[in-house]
Formats: sequence, C-alpha cells, structure tokens
Amino acid sequence: MQLNILTLPGDGIGIEVTREAVRVLHRVCDKYKHTASLSEALLGGIAIHKTGGPFPAETEKRALEADATLMGAVGLPEFDNWPPEKRPERGLLGIRKSLGVFANLRPVRSYPALLDSSPLKNHLIDGVDLIIVRELNSGIYYGTPRGIEGEGKSARGFNTMSYTWDEIDRVTRMSFELARKRRKKLTSVDKSNVLETSQLWRCVVVEVAKDYPDVELDHLLVDNAAMQLVLNPKRFDVMVMENMFGDIISDEGAVLAGSIGMLPSASIGGKRPSGAWVGLYEPVHGSAPDIAGQNKANPLGAIGSVAAMLEYSFGLTEEAAAVNKAMETVLNSGRVTADLRPKGTPATTEEVGKAVCEAI
Ligand code: NAD
Repeated sequence: MQLNILTLPGDGIGIEVTREAVRVLHRVCDKYKHTASLSEALLGGIAIHKTGGPFPAETEKRALEADATLMGAVGLPEFDNWPPEKRPERGLLGIRKSLGVFANLRPVRSYPALLDSSPLKNHLIDGVDLIIVRELNSGIYYGTPRGIEGEGKSARGFNTMSYTWDEIDRVTRMSFELARKRRKKLTSVDKSNVLETSQLWRCVVVEVAKDYPDVELDHLLVDNAAMQLVLNPKRFDVMVMENMFGDIISDEGAVLAGSIGMLPSASIGGKRPSGAWVGLYEPVHGSAPDIAGQNKANPLGAIGSVAAMLEYSFGLTEEAAAVNKAMETVLNSGRVTADLRPKGTPATTEEVGKAVCEAI
C-alpha cells in the first residue's frame, strides 16, 4: 500500500517524539511491504517564526492532499503572552477545522507494567480499556460572539457554547460505531441539568440510539463523570462528550494511564471518496518546554498515534496491532523514559523509539 503522510512535528518535544514515530512507521512499512511517502510542513511556533502565522496556507494545502497527518505538539513559552488568535495553539484549531475532523478519540489503556505509575490503586486501574470521544469542531471554543469588552474592573469576558443537531448526531453515530466493535457500551456525558446545549445533546443521543439497539447507552452529568472516572474507570467502554468537557475529562483520563506521554489520539471526520476517514493523529501531550531538547520525552503517545493512523486511516489492523504489541514489549522490558519512573537509568526518547522498532 502507498501511504501518503504529512508530518507536522511542531515545537518542543513535538519534534523529538515525531522523529521516533516516523522511525516506527518506516519499520512497519519495511516489515509489511508498504511504501511510506512522507513530507514535513510547519505548524505552531516554528511556523510563526518562519512564516509569520501559526497555520500557513501551504500547510493547509498539503494536509488536505495527504492521506493522513501526523502531528507532534505546538507551543513555545515566548508566545505565552500573545493574544489567543496569534499563538501557536491557534494552528491546532485551524488544522482541525480545515480538515473537518469532528471527533477526537483518546484511548486510555492500563498496561500491567505501568500499574505502579498510575496515581490510582492497582485494583482500580488494572484492566481499564476505554475510549473518550471528544467533539472537536464546535462548542464553546468556536462559538461566537466571543470577546472581552470594556476595560479594567468594568471589563466583561464572554464566550458562546452552541451545538446543532447535525454536529451532535455525527459524533454520536461515530461513537456508537466504535462501541459496536468493542464491548458495546456507550456513556454520553453532558450537563443537561443546567445547559440548553446539553439538553439538545441528550435528546439527539437518545434519538440516534434507536439505530443502535445492540449498544447499551447511559448518560452521566459531567461532574459525576469526572468522579466516576477515578472511582471506577473500568465501568467505561466508550464515552462521548462535547468539546470543552472532552478537553478536561480526557486529561483526567490521561493520568489514569500513568503518564500523559503515553496517550495517543486520533482526530477523525468525514470520509474520503475512498471510504477512508480524514485523519489527524497526535499524542495528547503538549510541547513540554521543561524537558524539550533533552531527549527525555516519552515517545509512546506519538508511536501509539501511528498505530491509530494505521488502523483508522489505512485499515491496517494487523500492522496497528504489531505496533501496540511492540510498545507493550518495551514497557515490560523496563526500557522506558523518566516520566514512567523506571527502576534503573531512564531510557532516552531515541532509545525507546529504537526498542519499539526492534520489537516489531
Ligand atoms: P504539556 O503536556 O506540554 O506538559 C505537561 C507536563 O507533562 C510537563 O511537566 C511535561 O514535561 C510532561 N510531559 C508532557 N509530555 C511528555 C512526554 N511525552 N514525556 C514526558 N513528559 C511529558 O502541557 P503544558 O506544560 O500545559 O503546555 C506546554 C505547551 O504545550 C503550552 O504552550 C501549551 O499551550 C502547549 N500544548 C499543546 C498541545 C498540543 O499541541 N496538542 C496540547 C497541550 C498543550
């Protein structure tokens, strides 16, 4: 198979972890006789430095042409005080919007070798295997009007949370489809006791559920969902929620796995003429300025994102499983980065990437 992939390493550790993810991708292609055609473009802080903006038109064009896009992370401390519309992170919103990816999938799995790295007691985390589906293309991060009016102590900041029926319908359907291929359980998270957008959300979910009678559905208010995720994470299979709730809850999910560096994500949307999903794949973590450039970052979130890409964008389930299995082998071997608190000397980013390749 010919895989046309655009890489956007971005800033900080994004560059380091993407390098290892690409190494693993080449290894998979060698082993399974696929041809990877990879090209690289600019996004985030590096794009601001080189082109004046976080999401150059050239990057947009090439992402729209690629079969799939593999992203690192964006964000540089020097832009921390810039207005939101000029910051590197605006590049993320830009590419998600322009690719039309409307669902962000964040799998959270416990690995036996990492049980002690989780802040939860072993018996709570052992066996956790869930996916958080976050609506990605609407809600309060995109709604207008938005802004800050007035000045000083009379200033008022405001944002708008809005959802249409169709926006809820499509992400709900995708979540039911995912649940159907897993343990057939979907939890919809909302705040329908307070928010009108959540009341519509629940109404649409109930309507879509009629097409999936084989999937068990339940609803949780977001505050309770946050609590249940640490009290009894094994109760969840697939969870679906709107953009901002998903942003927050998925970071809570991140710590369950032991380190934010472990978590992959897939942002997928409408189907291409070939039937494949439009896909944007990235680790959940940011650019981690505190460890950037030190060869210390855990690349497994980025490598797991390659596995997700192979599965969702190319339908290569055997290859995806090989990557996941190799990651598990490396975790069991104890050759892991400092964030996973290994017993001996921590491995470097590059050593972990090479170890995954060897295990494949
Ligand atoms: P962060 O995820 O970059 O880092 C949080 C903490 O986790 C840090 O201590 C960091 O060292 C650690 N960490 C993160 N990834 C790791 C990895 N792979 N291996 C080992 N340790 C890891 O979040 P932050 O510090 O809040 O944000 C830093 C910058 O990244 C900001 O500019 C922020 O806006 C940006 N950001 C970008 C994305 C993205 O590109 N998708 C996501 C979140 C934050």
